[in-house]
Amino acid sequence: NEVLVETVDLKKHFIVGGEGLFSKKKKAVHAVDGINLKVAKGETLGLVGESGCGKSTLGRLILRLLEPTSGKVLFKGQNIYDMNGEELRKLRKKMQIIFQDPYASLNPRMPVSEIIGEPLETHEVAFGKEKEKMVYELMREVGLRSYHMKRYPHQFSGGQRQRIGIARALALNPELIICDEPVSALDVSIQAQVLNLLKDLQQQFQLTYIFISHDLRIVKYVSDKVYVMFLGKIVEAGNAKDIYDEPLHPYTRFLISAVPKVNPRLRESKRVILQGDVPSPVNPPAGCRFHTRCPNAMKQCSIEEPELKDFNGHMVACHLYSR
Ligand code: SF4
Ligand code: MG
Repeated sequence: NEVLVETVDLKKHFIVGGEGLFSKKKKAVHAVDGINLKVAKGETLGLVGESGCGKSTLGRLILRLLEPTSGKVLFKGQNIYDMNGEELRKLRKKMQIIFQDPYASLNPRMPVSEIIGEPLETHEVAFGKEKEKMVYELMREVGLRSYHMKRYPHQFSGGQRQRIGIARALALNPELIICDEPVSALDVSIQAQVLNLLKDLQQQFQLTYIFISHDLRIVKYVSDKVYVMFLGKIVEAGNAKDIYDEPLHPYTRFLISAVPKVNPRLRESKRVILQGDVPSPVNPPAGCRFHTRCPNAMKQCSIEEPELKDFNGHMVACHLYSR
């Protein structure tokens, strides 16, 4: 499949701490630290890692909601950071985002029909009766009814609100949707409904997703490819099934073992317990960033940073696999 989005050595460093412009206490947070990824058209790339690993920052860089420190984001081969105003306006229609908390992203004073129709007006796609017709269609696609149109966000359940967020994201006929923890705030019983809706819509509209979650179980359910992120870096990547059935990186094994009873081959006795605290992205440890917590750490691990190496499409950054 054609590559829709690609990042090339993408970095975002924030400066934190210290009073005044030249304070020595200022430190760079390496939130996103040299990410290379590719998403094929119509596929779902799952991005998994604990909170604070930089996955949401990466999502925002791909949408150009943030400017990177260095690196590129290519959309159909064109660097989005080189685009002019007109190109960028077109790009904005092609890329959308769905947030974790739909309620926070929905204007409480707007009826749902206006919330969903807003992007149609902003981008001058449709107005008046035509807009209303399109909104009605969008609501149908996500499983809402026409009598919902005049209601306000507070009159909906969490799952319905996420459907509203999805309808709004679909309004401009996008190619890429970044789903940032889209079901994390929902009851488990509702999660599957929303995930299945996202899958159906992907088929129907040939959507490409970047699906961000801390929950590997959810990522596995929706993703073709999985990228595992730890402190601003990709530590393992490959086909969802390979990552889940044969995790190579000790951090991925930890993430999988933390998922209760989904993979019966990992018994309770195999549960990986980590030493130490989560290191900070402000001062990431030298060598492998995971070495302070890794049950397999060797001497080399605190000195030399492992490179991401490709073993027939399954990539891992760990000295256990340095061949
Ligand atoms: Fe563990 Fe060393 Fe591999 Fe890092 S490089 S994950 S510390 S074994
Ligand atoms: Mg986040």
